[in-house]
Amino acid sequence: MSTSTETRNVIIIGSGPSGYTAAVYAARASLHPLVFEGSVTAGGALMNTTEVENFPGFRDGIMGPALMDEMRAQAERFGAELVSDDVVEVDLTGDVKVVKTATDTYTARSVVLATGSGYRKLGLPREEELSGRGVSWCATCDGFFFREQAIAVIGGGDSAVEEATFLTRFASKVYLVHRRDELRASKIMQERAFADPKLEMVWNSEVAAINGADKLESIQLRDTVTGEERRLDVTGLFIAIGHDPRSELLTGQVDLDDDGYVLVKHPSTATNLPGVFAAGDLVDHHYRQAITAAGTGCAAALDAERFIAALD
Ligand code: FAD
Repeated sequence: MSTSTETRNVIIIGSGPSGYTAAVYAARASLHPLVFEGSVTAGGALMNTTEVENFPGFRDGIMGPALMDEMRAQAERFGAELVSDDVVEVDLTGDVKVVKTATDTYTARSVVLATGSGYRKLGLPREEELSGRGVSWCATCDGFFFREQAIAVIGGGDSAVEEATFLTRFASKVYLVHRRDELRASKIMQERAFADPKLEMVWNSEVAAINGADKLESIQLRDTVTGEERRLDVTGLFIAIGHDPRSELLTGQVDLDDDGYVLVKHPSTATNLPGVFAAGDLVDHHYRQAITAAGTGCAAALDAERFIAALD
């Protein structure tokens, strides 16, 4: 274990659109940020997708990993120092913030938290491989790709029903697959869903298998009461069974809401701890888009810059 002697101006934890955007802004403000990218998924959630068509500036769309490579290179160009390692422990409560990896300890005057959130998965074979090839976790992002196609949405809460209803704008047919015989979603959402002629409820059913070589071709459904299985031919599968913020590191440090999202003092990105700012999907369970994550990443860097300026 080694300890870096230099106390940084800013440490950024996370390398999705929010972390890299914070890095671009902090680097251009000559704060020489140190960015922990994570050891496995540097680049964040968009590394697991194909075409991104809604990030402004790319009229023909751009592949998710290419977009993240550009953001990374832009941050590096202005002098951000990138470390492909996981932060395993933090102490953010003092004036000097302490950030630890498995092997090293770093200190900083301010920290931007940008560790994102993870969509819950079904845990089935082919789910990862077919992500961006029919399997999706984001109707806003991918609905447009499924015009006049049959798709299935999995889940029974507000998000699932909202996504299913939204997807009827594009799809020829939307199956809302739920493992029980009633929805958890609010009554008004249910009424809207039941009134939609393109939406069909598939009760008491769970996904037993995801089928397709290069792209999704069908799913295997299992009846949760009888155990019987049947094939449902769909080219899109939207998994809407929830998402979890990556805030385990922060428990007992910054204030979190009941679901574990970091609480910030809107419209700023300030947390309850001076010098600690948070951005992206770690904070936001409402919009969850690359552009909104980038926007709050920018705001967090500006907030950190002002915080440091006030210290000097
Ligand atoms: P993330 O992108 O999740 O990045 C967080 C980063 O933090 C990760 O790299 C992770 O490794 C790192 N990290 C976490 N913990 C640690 C730690 N302890 N130490 C170091 N690093 C850590 N949005 C759109 O706008 N358009 C789309 O087309 C679109 N498509 C999507 C497709 C898929 C399959 C998915 C999953 C999401 C999609 N989204 C899309 C949503 C978008 O990707 C997210 O809203 C956005 O990536 C959130 O950015 P973020 O920076 O907050 O977090």
